[in-house]
Amino acid sequence: MEENKTQGRIAAIVLAGGSGKRMGGSVPKQYRKLCGRPMITYSLEAFEKSGVDQVVLVTGREEVEYCRKEIVEKWGFQKVAAVVPGGKERYHSVYQGLKALKNCDYVLIHDGARPLLSQDIIERAITGAVEYEACVIGMPVKDTIKVADEDGFAVRTPDRSRLWQIQTPQAFSYELARRAYDRIMADETLQQGITDDAMVAERAEKIKVKLLPGSYENLKVTTPEDLYLAEALLARRMAVEKNEKS
Ligand code: C5P
Repeated sequence: MEENKTQGRIAAIVLAGGSGKRMGGSVPKQYRKLCGRPMITYSLEAFEKSGVDQVVLVTGREEVEYCRKEIVEKWGFQKVAAVVPGGKERYHSVYQGLKALKNCDYVLIHDGARPLLSQDIIERAITGAVEYEACVIGMPVKDTIKVADEDGFAVRTPDRSRLWQIQTPQAFSYELARRAYDRIMADETLQQGITDDAMVAERAEKIKVKLLPGSYENLKVTTPEDLYLAEALLARRMAVEKNEKS
């Protein structure tokens, strides 16, 4: 892999190994079409155009061949160095991605279900990883958030001005991420409730992860209404790009 002279060698893991239970339907959400293209192609294209040198795509066990032929080959993604099967939980899939990476200094971990990834956000994540070793993209929450008890009654209202909703990419020095994931994977007691990579770094390495602003557009397509939102935002973005070219 060629070294990016100012920042070191940068890799990305794109996660598409989930079953998308909350979406329903027979096709896993990351391969559903948005504006006529499989959802996963949007984030792969964003990395293709970015300063990232190498991409590993993590998919479901049954979808590796489909992704190699119908996504990577068909769409001509040159930076995808490997397509590997993921695991049961998101953190298992990330670990498979980390093990498949070769010779990199920094790694960006991204949900393939976030098709509205932009060049600005990728750049911010790379710069953040170089500066802080561990950073995540997110946005301040807009709604008031309450913590519920087991019976569905509100028990606490955290100070909204300090709350962020966390997105991806989540970016780390490769060494730190690998060490943290090795530790978590070796000890089941540390795996409880892990939903993002920052939690892995916090638990295993006891470090502080920097929060960097992304965009409210960078949504994760999770439930059926997100498909409509993502499609509308993608259509608007493509219209703007077309206008700029003409
Ligand atoms: O389940 P969740 O919405 O948090 O998934 C976020 C991303 O992680 C999605 O892009 C999904 O495909 C991926 N994932 C994965 N392997 C799993 C579960 C989720 O790659 N076992």
